[in-house]
Amino acid sequence: MKDIIIIGGGPAGLTAALYGGRAKLDTLVLEKQFHGGQMINTNEVENYPGVLEITGPELSAAMYEHANRFGAKIAFEEVIGLEVNYPVKKVITTNGTYETKTIILAMGAKPRQLGVEKEQELWGKGVSYCAICDGGFFKDKEVAVVGGGDTAVEDALYLSRLAKKVYLIHRRNELRAAQVLQERLFASSVQVIWDSQVSKLYSEQTLTGIAITNIKTNEVTDMDLQGLFIAVGSVPATKLVNGVVELNEQGYILANEKCETNIDGVFAAGDIRQKELRQIITAAADGAICIYQAEKYILKTQ
Ligand SMILES: Cc1cc2nc3c(=O)[nH]c(=O)nc-3n(C[C@H](O)[C@H](O)[C@H](O)COP(=O)(O)OP(=O)(O)OC[C@H]3O[C@@H](n4cnc5c(N)ncnc54)[C@H](O)[C@@H]3O)c2cc1C
Repeated sequence: MKDIIIIGGGPAGLTAALYGGRAKLDTLVLEKQFHGGQMINTNEVENYPGVLEITGPELSAAMYEHANRFGAKIAFEEVIGLEVNYPVKKVITTNGTYETKTIILAMGAKPRQLGVEKEQELWGKGVSYCAICDGGFFKDKEVAVVGGGDTAVEDALYLSRLAKKVYLIHRRNELRAAQVLQERLFASSVQVIWDSQVSKLYSEQTLTGIAITNIKTNEVTDMDLQGLFIAVGSVPATKLVNGVVELNEQGYILANEKCETNIDGVFAAGDIRQKELRQIITAAADGAICIYQAEKYILKTQ
């Protein structure tokens, strides 16, 4: 039986793995895709203390190696079910069932969709949720980014270095992005389209254009575009734990300052839990806290 099973290999999960391994706890991370989580979609990370500048994939690789060095094991398997009884908890994956004393939920979040017709069908055919991953395919093309937060502005700035023309479409008349990013945006070649939302996607085999509707005037404008980058927030990956642990109305896990959920021995770390600031550093901090609390729980219950 494992001491700790961590579900998700993003910064929360990998930091938990590092702390678990270092505490000589039998620690296993289960990751369904790539280690690094959302970090691998980040071109430049410049707000992780002590690291002046690093790409997301580089930071992911460094965290993965760091966790490995202290003996944590990482298996690439999707978790499809949980049993959270005392004293033995079960984690069911596509490959089998693991038994564990504690579980750390670190499944993070994924991009929110706009809900426009054909959006799903055109994902990967002009519609993208990751400028860093797909921006290179749009060299010298015309693209738009949808959103008004940090990610949307970062994406627009990144794309402006590759694409021929970049629009930023936002449904309000002001941005939510950090001031420093807004300053960079307004000094760039990105053209901001205010008070508008994407109402239609045009395609042949791939995206050929969009229609935008001005929400104040209802005026509809067609735009020829080859790329549409959607950056309108994220949804937590909590389907697995719906009905298992307590969630808030938006589907985020309710966990306290110690990252404890309402189930003994089950902790939540990172973007998956209700919190104000979802960043690499806050995810990593949660990962460390979870291990500290999981270790205390194991000592108390054995
Ligand atoms: C484009 C972009 C740019 C960003 N830039 C920055 C930045 O510059 N600085 C910063 O601090 N933050 C940045 N962030 C935010 C930061 O990446 C996130 O806050 C952070 O990655 C959250 O970490 P996490 O470990 O909680 O979750 P995630 O990174 O979402 O990782 C969760 C992992 O769990 C896995 N998983 C989910 N379900 C299962 C399952 N059932 N079984 C197994 N595995 C599962 C997923 O595959 C994923 O790998 C950015 C985010 C994006 C999208």
